Amino acid sequence: MSTITFKTHQLTCHPDETLLDAMLRKNIDVPYNCKSGSCHTCLMRSSDQTPPVKAQEGLKPTQKQQNYFLACLCKPDQDMTITLPDAADKFITYGKVISKHPLSKDIIELKLECNNPLSFKAGQFVNLMKPDGVYRSYSIANTPNKNNIIEFHIRILPGGQFSEWIYNDLAIGDQIPITDAKGNCFYIPERQEQGLLLIGTGSGLAPLAGILMDALEQKHTGPIHLLHGSKNKEGLYRFNEMKSLAEQQQNFHYTACISGDTTPETYTRGRANEVALKKITDLKGWRVYLCGHPDMVEQTKKQAFLQGAAMQDIYADAFFLTPRS
Ligand SMILES: Cc1cc2nc3c(=O)[nH]c(=O)nc-3n(C[C@H](O)[C@H](O)[C@H](O)COP(=O)(O)OP(=O)(O)OC[C@H]3O[C@@H](n4cnc5c(N)ncnc54)[C@H](O)[C@@H]3O)c2cc1C
Repeated sequence: MSTITFKTHQLTCHPDETLLDAMLRKNIDVPYNCKSGSCHTCLMRSSDQTPPVKAQEGLKPTQKQQNYFLACLCKPDQDMTITLPDAADKFITYGKVISKHPLSKDIIELKLECNNPLSFKAGQFVNLMKPDGVYRSYSIANTPNKNNIIEFHIRILPGGQFSEWIYNDLAIGDQIPITDAKGNCFYIPERQEQGLLLIGTGSGLAPLAGILMDALEQKHTGPIHLLHGSKNKEGLYRFNEMKSLAEQQQNFHYTACISGDTTPETYTRGRANEVALKKITDLKGWRVYLCGHPDMVEQTKKQAFLQGAAMQDIYADAFFLTPRS
């Protein structure tokens, strides 16, 4: 028998009982649906133990690494403390603004130095909070470093409560509360010969740039294709940096896509997702990362699957404009 701690509850799970059944027996209100491991509605996370292998069947490797599991498949073999997937929305540290500068007409790079070391992978996101309590999610564009610096690319939306505050009011030296890092959209050094296809629009380059650097630092051997899209060339920030990286790294290929009317030389005409899926038609065995506009992400996820990518190998961060809590 195992003792399970969930919020203020402590319950006993019998040897042949699933964790979900034990919780339902105790009338604990948890989301669930199919009870057979298909729908993933009962996804939970252990904050102290590695869950049983069977309880992680069908999850993405990045979810497994973060101790996510399905309560309906979980027959615990030890005591565990568990949470709902995004329940841990605690502001755990502060970030001091150390730099803030424009990357394009409407995207700024913000660098924060964390008071305490923040455990994260490039490509995950954190919530940042402003003094009136409004908070928003932003993806981390760099890899962990000894100086505890995290970097963001933030698009300034006209009338945007948070992004305009960052642009107009946030000053060097100010401190911003930061949550722990969340999300499954990051690189793991498994199957390093796999092709990686990274597709992003606008500030969606932020997580992808982080994932790219992580993959290169970890000596990924397979081909890595990054396609960045914007309406015009001004939106394709970091163009020169990505181009020269592609010249230096044999397995890295960069395509800058313009969906507007004018396409200068060295840029590719078309939407980044459409160009990508025409360029690599058979995605069997590929790992796909999609970041940016929610419509682009949803549409491309489906298309990548139809072109052979396994669902488990498709990692997506849609930049929904309402915060997750
Ligand atoms: C997981 C995740 C990761 C994210 N990562 C990033 C990131 O790395 N970089 C980044 O810039 N953003 C990112 N976002 C989006 C970010 O969290 C905010 O939603 C965004 O910055 C807008 O917040 P705001 O308070 O400025 O705007 P809000 O005050 O929330 O909205 C401002 C106004 O913009 C309007 N609006 C809505 N959609 C659009 C649109 N597509 N274009 C123009 N106007 C619109 C709305 O109608 C609203 O009136 C991410 C979101 C998620 C969920």
